[in-house]
Amino acid sequence: MQGQRTPIESGCPDGFQYMHPTMRKNYGNWAYHEDPRPGVLKHTSRSGEAIYTVRAGTQRILDVLTLRKLCDIGDQYAEGYVRFTIRSNIEYMVADGNKVEPLIEALEKEGFVVGGTKNSVAMISHTQGWLHCDIPGTDASGVVKSMMDELIEDFKGWNMPNRVHITTSCCQINCGGQGDIAINIQHTKPPKINHDLVANICERPSVVARCPVAAIRPALVNGKPSLEVDEKKCICCGACYPPCTPMQINDPENTKLAIWVGGNHSNARSKPTFQKLVAAGIPNNPPRWPEATAIVKKILQTYKDNARDWERLSDWIERIGWPQFFELTELPFTKFHVDNWRGARRSLNASTHIRF
Ligand code: SF4
Ligand code: SF4
Repeated sequence: MQGQRTPIESGCPDGFQYMHPTMRKNYGNWAYHEDPRPGVLKHTSRSGEAIYTVRAGTQRILDVLTLRKLCDIGDQYAEGYVRFTIRSNIEYMVADGNKVEPLIEALEKEGFVVGGTKNSVAMISHTQGWLHCDIPGTDASGVVKSMMDELIEDFKGWNMPNRVHITTSCCQINCGGQGDIAINIQHTKPPKINHDLVANICERPSVVARCPVAAIRPALVNGKPSLEVDEKKCICCGACYPPCTPMQINDPENTKLAIWVGGNHSNARSKPTFQKLVAAGIPNNPPRWPEATAIVKKILQTYKDNARDWERLSDWIERIGWPQFFELTELPFTKFHVDNWRGARRSLNASTHIRF
């Protein structure tokens, strides 16, 4: 049509232009891959060509100087092609196998850690935390950094029975939170409402609609339209806080961490599984979160000592049973920890019907 302006295209650019030429050339034609050493993958194509990938962990939220340093290493020691994985690793692709060892040396000299492949503890996937999101109750980056500092040998080596994926989540309702081990926020008190602000800031019907257990009602407080929460019903999920910041739920004392284990998306050897709660009420204790880190390390050590080769954490627990899991890890067991899915009909909102 005459006079119509050209559309502005935004969103992800085409990834092919950034791919290593060997990858581009052999797209869809890869035959198999090998693991020459921890942190390195070798993919061989049906044409006989091969490409090596060298993986280093990063802290995800990177400053410009570190990014430049990583890119300079890529230009000098690799072939100028990198990509970031969803677990915040940087990967360098090289077609020449002789470049792998000098590249690893250069990365390690600058303090980067190479690993995270095969049966290692992969980089913890983390959510935004205090820097980028508007609702976090903890700093995912900080939790990840302090835990990975303690798990560095398990990232660098193939020490585990199978791969271990750990996730964090800095609120109770949104991203993150399903892995072999998940460290999630757990609110333990209902939100505190600032009634002076609700009418100015919040769209009350949408806040009422957000509550999964219908615990929020419109109310008139001091002559102003506001909201009230039936605290007996409230499950302290924090879902009302994003659309209505005067319903503050983050709290230095009552916002805790919880650890869940046994989540598995893949169905390679067994069915996908949901994770289950095994430790709750753990102090949300920056800057190093020592209590949560100690529990994660204990679970990993027990898994490492007891699981059979190639058993994922969920397979191992399935084989030994939950009572033995708690016995071996020495975690206190209460009736709230493990919910079975037959009983979950009552304790989880598994249907569209609201139950009171
Ligand atoms: S987990 Fe929650 S708080 Fe953290 S980044 Fe995602 S939405 Fe924000
Ligand atoms: S915290 Fe969750 S359950 Fe409680 S009032 Fe808010 S939305 Fe409802």
